[in-house]
Amino acid sequence: MDIHSPGTTDSDSGADNVSELHNASVDEGAALQGACAQVHLPTGAMCIKRRGHDGSCEFVAARQVDVLLAERKTAEHW
Ligand SMILES: [Zn+2]
Repeated sequence: MDIHSPGTTDSDSGADNVSELHNASVDEGAALQGACAQVHLPTGAMCIKRRGHDGSCEFVAARQVDVLLAERKTAEHW
């Protein structure tokens, strides 16, 4: 949605290399809570793992995000 907003990304590469990883979005609200928050665009599901987590993302349905993210934060003491 902000592809025409220069200088607002936190990319550390600066490269114009569009990989499959960039075929995604991030839920800003969840990201601000410390979540990975990657959104799987085809389904709208979001990753509720902690930001910078190892391994693959764990996507949950959008309507479950609030509950599951809260549980994850409590369980892992974010
Ligand atoms: Zn993730």
